[in-house]
Amino acid sequence: MTALTIDEAGWLQTVEIVRSPNYDARPENVNIKLVVIHGISLPPGEFGGEYIRQFFCNQLVASLHPYFADICDMQVSAHCLIERDGNIVQFVSFLNRAWHAGVSSWRGEQACNNFSIGIELEGTDELDYSEQQYQGLRELVDSLRSYFPDIGDDGICGHSDIAPGRKTDPGPAFDWSRLNGLQAS
Ligand SMILES: [Zn+2]
Repeated sequence: MTALTIDEAGWLQTVEIVRSPNYDARPENVNIKLVVIHGISLPPGEFGGEYIRQFFCNQLVASLHPYFADICDMQVSAHCLIERDGNIVQFVSFLNRAWHAGVSSWRGEQACNNFSIGIELEGTDELDYSEQQYQGLRELVDSLRSYFPDIGDDGICGHSDIAPGRKTDPGPAFDWSRLNGLQAS
């Protein structure tokens, strides 16, 4: 995999771009210092297709699945999605605030969307994430850390870590040691 380059507007240069309307400006003078890992699949437990893209663009069709009817009016996004085959999609510039964390806190600081990057892995809490996803995530985290030096060694966490009791993703299936053991190629 070639290195992922981020341009001055905060977009990856070599990935699929699907612009989500669900973002706004970060507060002024905020340091981006955290990467939040999420897991998502739509419908739950099913992989492939366009539903996650549609969800983050407010285009999910409620009548296609009962679960879609529950969530289709949520206005949410993540900066990136990594699909099962390792394909990366970017929805929001890293310089802007994506809407992924919700009510959350990290080291006593509330509202993690202000100072974080949200990355969704296509998956479930219980099923192993794919090797290509760990590789893609490793590359992406390394690029983000070069671009945003305030993201430290320990500035990578799960959604469940910043919203305990409310969120469980990326779940026990996500193997932190596997991510940490990978070298960027
Ligand atoms: Zn999440």
